[in-house]
Amino acid sequence: MRRVILLIIDGLGDRPSPSLKWLTPLQAAEIPNMDLMAAKGLLGMQYPIAPGIPPGSDSGHLSIFGYDLDREYPGRGVFEALSEGVVSVGVIFRANFSTVREENGKLVVVDRRAGRIEGEDAFSLSSELKELYLLNGEVKAKFLHTLEHRGFLILEGEGLSSLVTDVDPHEEGYYVLEPEPIDDKAVKTVEAVREFLLISYRILKDHEVNRKRIAEGKLPANFILLRGASSPTKLEPFSLRWGFKPAAVAAGPMYKGIARALGFEVFHPPGATGLPDSDFSSKIRKALDLLEEFDFIYVHMKGTDVASHNKDPEQKVRVLERIDLALEPLTDPPEDLLVVITGDHATPCSLGKHSGDPVPVLFYGKGLPKDDSSNFHELDAQVGGLGWFTGSSMMRLILNYSDRALEYGLRPFPRPRDYIPKIEMLNPLRL
Ligand code: ZN
Ligand code: ZN
Repeated sequence: MRRVILLIIDGLGDRPSPSLKWLTPLQAAEIPNMDLMAAKGLLGMQYPIAPGIPPGSDSGHLSIFGYDLDREYPGRGVFEALSEGVVSVGVIFRANFSTVREENGKLVVVDRRAGRIEGEDAFSLSSELKELYLLNGEVKAKFLHTLEHRGFLILEGEGLSSLVTDVDPHEEGYYVLEPEPIDDKAVKTVEAVREFLLISYRILKDHEVNRKRIAEGKLPANFILLRGASSPTKLEPFSLRWGFKPAAVAAGPMYKGIARALGFEVFHPPGATGLPDSDFSSKIRKALDLLEEFDFIYVHMKGTDVASHNKDPEQKVRVLERIDLALEPLTDPPEDLLVVITGDHATPCSLGKHSGDPVPVLFYGKGLPKDDSSNFHELDAQVGGLGWFTGSSMMRLILNYSDRALEYGLRPFPRPRDYIPKIEMLNPLRL
């Protein structure tokens, strides 16, 4: 049986860029280590969720880790809250301090981040909202401030539901939106949200901190914008589902949250920032060290996705080249190691956002099959020996190439009774 390092390079897949002479960043980058592994390994293309569906980073990861999004996706707020160590039983919203102005009895969003409020101001304002009681005491609201303008709102009480639309219009200059129930069960939650918004606006509007901010020419943090309602569901631990002892090496808060939610032990090595300047070598060194104690190491690298959102293909090339340097120790792996490299979704630099394009994937290890491809990029991956598949097949392939797969029908690990793994080959293997 092999141990596994799964490297997820965030937003890896891309499209041709005019400034790269119509090459993709992976094609344009000098990445000799990834190319060497591609030449000696197997390539393929995977749709993290399904063809044409742009994944979020959380849903892309969850699908690749072998969780059924239709049944098991709890919503993004849960992962972000977990990343802050928040565990709750209620409905969790992502929340921003923001600046609004009144216009004909409605509120218009002036700044979704209240001038990136931080420090003492954010602290004093949030302490006013730490605990509020809504709907005659039936619902408890807790606002938790995290970083800068960001935080969470947690609603606790009987009969609440996360099926509530966003209050945040996601654009400045637009009205704050009425929360709406997505189904009947959410009516009470909507009433609680409305009451929270009105009470918190009343508290924040004339607060001395905001009067001081206005006097200093700063934007007041007079409103809490809510979005991404979610409720924690207990996800089956990764170890039970797949039989590995898993560890995660990540710096970005949400990725640590996802890993924690699945029961990974989480490590944040020195120099890892979750940004393009991150120390990628330190992450790979940590991953190799962890192989002593764990047999599945998930390593996350975020810088590529940041460059893509910046619409900066040159920056993405530079990040890929720095990641490639860090991967040198993996090119000559221990005999019982399977190295898998892929992304959680494509983020084409030309779009500056996630797309439903497929993402290249590489399987590499001593004694494992190889195909004809010689470079790690979209074109070679399209004709690679792994073919095309969806993220839901990823863990099955990892079990197979780490020599852990059992014949069909055998069930070694306790699993929910209704768990039926989806295995979909979209394109037949090219021979
Ligand atoms: Zn991502
Ligand atoms: Zn992204």
